[in-house]
Amino acid sequence: MFLKLRWARFFTLAGWDWRLANQPGFDFIVTFPCGHSECSGSHTLKVRICEKVYDALARRHGEIYDVDSMYSIPHPALFGDGPDNTYWQMGHGSGGGCETVSQWIANANRLWERAAHE
Ligand SMILES: [Zn+2]
Repeated sequence: MFLKLRWARFFTLAGWDWRLANQPGFDFIVTFPCGHSECSGSHTLKVRICEKVYDALARRHGEIYDVDSMYSIPHPALFGDGPDNTYWQMGHGSGGGCETVSQWIANANRLWERAAHE
């Protein structure tokens, strides 16, 4: 599926550590750096790729995962068509909550375009 390949390229371009997931229902295990003093240097997600947009991903995430599993590491995340269409929840710093890839990479949409061609 092309979308999975594009995400793998995106993670590489972003410098995020990724590998294929060996757990049914997930495609990738992804670790990305976090410089917040209350975090341990990084966050790790188990990512499921599905061809959906943000609102549908957020709704589906709430249907599939309860609060305990959402906030367990690695955090279950749903990634759809591009960095804006991603959804997970996690603790971060003294707070946390809903997250998207675009909140973590300044030039995410440019990298997403590059990931389609390289
Ligand atoms: Zn953090």
